[in-house]
Amino acid sequence: MQHVILITVMLHLESPIDAKRWCADQRSQGQTLGFVPTMGALHKGHLSLVTRARAQNGICCASIFINPLQFEDHGDFDAYPRDTESDLALLEAQGCDMVFMGSLGEFFPEVSDLAKIDILPAGPHGSGLEEKFRPGHLDGVRTIVERLFRTVGPSSAYFGEKDFQQTLVVSDLAREMGYPNIVVCPTVREDSGLALSSRNVRLSPDEKNLAQQIYPALLAAREAWQSGERSPDRLSAAMTGHLNHDGLIVEYAEVRDPTHWTAQLPQTPLERAQALIAVRIGSVRLIDNLRLDQ
Ligand code: AMP
Repeated sequence: MQHVILITVMLHLESPIDAKRWCADQRSQGQTLGFVPTMGALHKGHLSLVTRARAQNGICCASIFINPLQFEDHGDFDAYPRDTESDLALLEAQGCDMVFMGSLGEFFPEVSDLAKIDILPAGPHGSGLEEKFRPGHLDGVRTIVERLFRTVGPSSAYFGEKDFQQTLVVSDLAREMGYPNIVVCPTVREDSGLALSSRNVRLSPDEKNLAQQIYPALLAAREAWQSGERSPDRLSAAMTGHLNHDGLIVEYAEVRDPTHWTAQLPQTPLERAQALIAVRIGSVRLIDNLRLDQ
């Protein structure tokens, strides 16, 4: 009996222009494109999106671009982990067909002065929480994701629930553009419950112990919900009770109705709830969230 081993060679394109041409060619051949935008330093969370995109589309493609427009903190941009060689190997092993990169200038070729890029407002879901602590961040996300969607023309694009507010912002964008279908994928966690994040590699062992308090805080909110608690204030308090540690600075630990986003903490009992946390540990900022009513 003959065994056939299929080896997929991933195409690696350095520029968005080449990627746009390649994607248009694939679409003209009737292929559906599943797209996973990333900033690299890939881990199993990113790869779960690739697996999903691979399974649901004829072609799976990804981008690796550390978007300066979404970093309001230059130190964070400089310290953002970069490991292109490993990223390419992981994507190829996951069955990705094409990955592309690019520079800010290549994504915005019409702009001669990069300081003058037209930043798109994140929209209604961009207000509150992330906006308060990272002003301009979600505007920068929407601006680059719009370019990425125009480059690829995907049928579906895959985002992690870990960045919950981001999923709402890109869903608004996709609704306005008329494409793609946005697929929100579950957060991949370590056994400890800590959400995988490219920034975790910057945590010392002690800092990692602190980071591992985030998930129990989210579970405390879920437990309170399951015991019948519906007050946004008290659900938030259930989380902050778990986050009271030296070296862990809570930016927010709040709840929102995920279907009726409000900038501020709701003042009336909730029917649905998403608990959302952002903390700083040393120079590292981490976010996580959990749906309470499912
Ligand atoms: P990033 O490279 O951080 O911009 O992330 C690229 C995509 O991977 C985003 O849609 C993230 O929400 C998603 N992602 C990051 N971490 C995780 C995780 N632990 N589980 C699932 N998706 C994730």
